[in-house]
Amino acid sequence: MTKVSPRKVRVIGAGFSGLLAAHYLRNRGFEVEVFEAEARSGGLLQTHRLPWGLAETAANGFLANLEIESVADAVGCELEPARRASRRRFFFRAGRARQWPFRFFEGVGVIVRLFFAWIFRFLAPIEGESVATWGRRVGGPAFVRWLLAPALSGIYAAAPERLSAPLLLRRFFGQKFKAPKRGRLRGLVAPRHGMGDFVAKLEASLRARDVAFRFGRGVTAAEAQGWAAAGGVVWAVPLPAAVDALTTLSPVLAAALGRVGRIGLVSVTAFFDPRPSDLRGFGCLFPRGEGVVALGALFNAEIFEGRGELRSETWIYSHADVPRDDAIVVEQLAADRLRLGGATKAAPLGVRVQRWPFALPVYDEALAAALARPEWASLERAGHYFVGNYRGSLGLSRLIGAVRATVEAIA
Ligand SMILES: Cc1cc2nc3c(=O)[nH]c(=O)nc-3n(C[C@H](O)[C@H](O)[C@H](O)COP(=O)(O)OP(=O)(O)OC[C@H]3O[C@@H](n4cnc5c(N)ncnc54)[C@H](O)[C@@H]3O)c2cc1C
Repeated sequence: MTKVSPRKVRVIGAGFSGLLAAHYLRNRGFEVEVFEAEARSGGLLQTHRLPWGLAETAANGFLANLEIESVADAVGCELEPARRASRRRFFFRAGRARQWPFRFFEGVGVIVRLFFAWIFRFLAPIEGESVATWGRRVGGPAFVRWLLAPALSGIYAAAPERLSAPLLLRRFFGQKFKAPKRGRLRGLVAPRHGMGDFVAKLEASLRARDVAFRFGRGVTAAEAQGWAAAGGVVWAVPLPAAVDALTTLSPVLAAALGRVGRIGLVSVTAFFDPRPSDLRGFGCLFPRGEGVVALGALFNAEIFEGRGELRSETWIYSHADVPRDDAIVVEQLAADRLRLGGATKAAPLGVRVQRWPFALPVYDEALAAALARPEWASLERAGHYFVGNYRGSLGLSRLIGAVRATVEAIA
């Protein structure tokens, strides 16, 4: 009897999406080869071990769900929950950080308006509405200015005027809304040694299961055509690279995705001697116009155990808001920190600046239109599957479910 060799699927991109695609494909018995343009896996996710502590370059953890936990268990990566103290989250207003962003009557007004919108059933977003328009309609201007805008800039890094309300919110209102299945952990969790450890363990587990890695190997659409017909290709590349590939594979989709906004970010991790006056909690979000240039700050050592004795903070800036000179960005951080409430301009003991000229897609109307196009289905019939944070799920916890669903479709 002749032995039937398994179907071979090529994965392009070894970031979080590509590694997970390889993991699920291997689980389903496919032969898998991963191509990565850079010399290492992880994409945006990297952890730098500095003399003062860990510095993450992108996400610092996952929102726990069963899927994340089972992958972490399978690759031998221990996840630990965030500390209880990190439940305290701050909004910056009128020169100080506060847990409740509204003034008393403003807050009452917002609650009443949201309640009416819920009772009279006009909470659901309307086609073509921006998040800002939706927010003003259901909760009023204060709801948008002091809660929605800073909270969304902490996730989507874009102003609510640019974000599509149906794209972000519709899943909460339709019958289709299905929260990811819960595992044994709750809330934010992170690998004990940082996200880089999760990436390294996932890669090692894939190698041990005969997945071949080709680093320093950027793939073009022309060469992937034959692979798609032979077994299938998973494109796990960021939006700009997906647009490049689609220029050959589907010019209509390339044009539609090409209209999607792009966000560059600068993430600065700085270490300080701890002070009794340091804010304790998850971090602080900064509404625009309050005199702070940063979008938000994370208080890393307060979030997870074992991240060292020093005060570790990661400040996120829009790439467009800060100059190219790292030294000036660090000065900006010191000025922002001073406004946040540090009585003194303490110099950091160590700093790491990470620039992502392209970090994230904007979840805008153009993306909503591109995702609704019928050409995605014909691409899949031709063996080209696209996954990544521009396909409807930005956060890692939802991205993992989307990647898994794609692999099920291939299988
Ligand atoms: C500062 C920052 C903070 C964030 N914080 C959070 C957070 O708190 N929570 C959260 O859930 N998410 C967060 N995110 C988002 C999250 O990190 C990303 O959505 C996720 O890491 C994207 O993974 P990916 O594999 O889809 O893409 P990427 O990480 O971009 O990986 C794509 C890979 O494809 C490779 N590639 C590109 N073109 C080619 C080609 N032609 N051939 C071969 N390889 C190619 C690239 O080199 C790269 O390695 C954050 C992002 C940033 C930038």
